[in-house]
Amino acid sequence: AKKLGRNQYHFFTEELNQIVQNTINLDKDMRQALIDNEYCLFYQPKVDLLTSKIVGVEALIRWISPTKGFIAPNVFIPLAEENGFIKELGNWIVEEALNQHLKWKEMGIDINISINISAKQLLDKSFVPKFINTLENKNINPSKIDLEITEYMFMEESKETKNNLNKLHDFGVTISLDDFGTGYSSLSYLKKFPIDYLKVDKAFLDDFNSVDGSIFLETIVKMGQMLKMKVIAEGVETQEQIDYLKSISCDQYQGYYFSKPLSSKDFEKFYFKN
Ligand code: C2E
Ligand code: CA
Ligand code: CA
Ligand code: CA
Repeated sequence: AKKLGRNQYHFFTEELNQIVQNTINLDKDMRQALIDNEYCLFYQPKVDLLTSKIVGVEALIRWISPTKGFIAPNVFIPLAEENGFIKELGNWIVEEALNQHLKWKEMGIDINISINISAKQLLDKSFVPKFINTLENKNINPSKIDLEITEYMFMEESKETKNNLNKLHDFGVTISLDDFGTGYSSLSYLKKFPIDYLKVDKAFLDDFNSVDGSIFLETIVKMGQMLKMKVIAEGVETQEQIDYLKSISCDQYQGYYFSKPLSSKDFEKFYFKN
């Protein structure tokens, strides 16, 4: 038994070393990946539930490494937030999304574009002035640009967060509260911060067939609308879910049922077919 114990210890150390090594490599690799042009943005349509028309897209980052293959944003974004690289990567994401918006506008695809913003990015002193400056320089209508933030941003430094969001909102950019219902939200946040859209997390939709699940979803939609927000359901995969969302007057949805996130070229084809 003693021997097994030591072997196990040995095994765990090795495994731990491996994890540490992988993290260090990933840390280095994701910085190099920006230099090597390995990131790109995919776009998932946002759809109006009443008209079934595309009203906007959400930009979602993709990292396709020639050596490691596809690395999911759920893997590298949290790491980039931890090691600070998100500021650099975030700048690239904003620049790329805004350039795409301009390209599409020229092609006659004049739709809103939503950009995911990490807490660290928003709290960086230079972010807001730089963002506003960029919109001005590129001559972009701010009401076409939406920033998606998550409620856990409200927990720390909420004064800074509030000031920054207010500046962006006053300038004309819209704000979406992403993954609503999954964090440690206090509902008072909904009145304290300038939020235009509530994005209800997929978890609520997965649960809509149960009595409790449907009560939550319907209540969130009503509450959001009473607070003058539009409500967007995330992760819609079936017609049944769409019928239900229509019956409770939800405003918009996103999900594989309509379209997965697409490359810019594939989105263009999809847009003109619809
Ligand atoms: P999120 O912002 O909540 O994005 C929604 C995720 O759900 C996306 O995963 C999307 O591909 C996926 N999704 C959309 N429709 C469906 C559906 O019908 N069914 C299912 N099962 N999934 C669906 P993705 O692209 O892997 O992104 C994961 C997360 O990574 C995002 O969650 C966001 O938190 C983060 N992320 C992605 N791109 C960026 C970015 O450019 N900047 C920042 N800061 N974070 C990003
Ligand atoms: Ca999002
Ligand atoms: Ca979400
Ligand atoms: Ca999420």
